[in-house]
Amino acid sequence: MTDNLATERLRKLAGFFANNPSIQYVTPTSPQYAELCAAYVSLPDLNPLAIARPSTVEAATSVVSFVVTNDIPFTVRSGGHDSFGRFFRNGAVAVDLRLINYVEIDQESSTARIGGGILGGHMIRALQKHGLAAAVGTISSVGYAGWAMYGGYGPYSSKFGLGVDQILAAKVINAKGELVDADAELLRALRGAGGAFGVVAELTIPVHRLDQTLAGAIAFQSDDLPVVIRQYNLGYQALSAEGIPAELTLQQSIINLPHGKTLVVLFVWASPDIETGQLWAEKICALAPVAHNAIQPTTPLTYLTDTDRMVPSHTRGRVRTISLKRLSDEVLDVISANVLKMPADPHTIFAMHELRTGTPSAQAHSDSVFAAREGHFVFEIIGNAQREENLDRATAWGQDFWNELTRTDPENVLPATYLSLSAPEEVQMSRVFGENYAWLVDMKGKYDPRGVFAAATARL
Ligand SMILES: Cc1cc2nc3c(=O)[nH]c(=O)nc-3n(C[C@H](O)[C@H](O)[C@H](O)COP(=O)(O)OP(=O)(O)OC[C@H]3O[C@@H](n4cnc5c(N)ncnc54)[C@H](O)[C@@H]3O)c2cc1C
Repeated sequence: MTDNLATERLRKLAGFFANNPSIQYVTPTSPQYAELCAAYVSLPDLNPLAIARPSTVEAATSVVSFVVTNDIPFTVRSGGHDSFGRFFRNGAVAVDLRLINYVEIDQESSTARIGGGILGGHMIRALQKHGLAAAVGTISSVGYAGWAMYGGYGPYSSKFGLGVDQILAAKVINAKGELVDADAELLRALRGAGGAFGVVAELTIPVHRLDQTLAGAIAFQSDDLPVVIRQYNLGYQALSAEGIPAELTLQQSIINLPHGKTLVVLFVWASPDIETGQLWAEKICALAPVAHNAIQPTTPLTYLTDTDRMVPSHTRGRVRTISLKRLSDEVLDVISANVLKMPADPHTIFAMHELRTGTPSAQAHSDSVFAAREGHFVFEIIGNAQREENLDRATAWGQDFWNELTRTDPENVLPATYLSLSAPEEVQMSRVFGENYAWLVDMKGKYDPRGVFAAATARL
């Protein structure tokens, strides 16, 4: 973009915001610009032309309508947790939705209408005041819509389903800059391909009575990591074969603790029946020798806040992902070999989400384009580093680990890789969406023929 074009666009924007003084607006010369550009992963080369901060759905609609009408490119930003910066573009206006963070509960229908920019933690906090909870990601600072639209795994995946299956209704700002209630067709596209079809201004999601859970982290004795990884997983597979209640969701990770690399399993029992949960906690703890067990009766909010402490609030590096149907012997060998080589930086992590066979989201949903519907594990190979000197090693480690996984049994690799964690230049949308791809391309032509939402994570 030429300097003249940027100046002309900034002039137009200044006029719009002068006429709409209630909408916050920040340019690169504003003191808050750097703070508002900050995101989970440091991406210093991404500098939006300006940042608009509407605090209502109506204000967001005015902003989007203005930029669309004036052919000014724009992006949408909420939690800023996309590792590839798909919330900003150089020379584009960023519409930061974080101030649109209301939660309106309808007790009768057990649903809540939530603002399109709300973070998962804010939502859980608001719900907890009413003894309620909802599906959410592992960390509270992740934006709800960004999490839910492209998949949305988390501590309640088994019981409440994935984020994508929480979208009951949506208010969307479309490619013409109009606020519309999504009809069945648009909802289907949003459930998996989200931002390619509009700015999600509001979602309606199911909420559940859940004021107490049994949850916490189990650290297994990991002096011999390959042995403990195998022992835990073979035992878990045997339990799975017998049947595990949907209330239980587990998330495995290998993290660098001060005393060394450790297998840590996050245990969440999504039911107030704490007694039965305790029995399951005992079964999981019996899978391998335990070094520390922090499972306790807690609340969804406290659990989320506790988990936040395990993850840095800002980092640098890059994530890689692959989704595998089973943790076969071959895969467990690759995991073991590679976690041993994991650089000893506190930000370098290997974690897995599971969509367990038989749970509500692990079955065909014809009203959604999210294609990863058979039981699987999402690998999160987090090649991030706290210390600059570890960065190259952490990213190279992630690359090698991922390369080795891609060479394992192709029958075991899910074509529908997790879009949110995939680099735009490496992901093939036709594989991600499978049989829904052609339909989505048609829908894109219908709903966004000019490519107004070109920056979206789903590129169609
Ligand atoms: C520390 C960390 C933990 C994570 N944990 C999980 C997890 O437990 N489970 C999981 O499934 N994923 C997880 N993720 C991945 C995360 O869900 C995705 O990166 C998600 O897209 C982030 O959403 P966001 O709003 O925070 O980020 P942003 O970067 O602001 O947004 C992500 C994308 O969604 C778009 N977007 C956001 N809001 C809207 C909206 N209202 N309307 C239209 N488009 C919008 C943005 O334009 C961008 O393309 C995690 C990521 C990190 C860094």
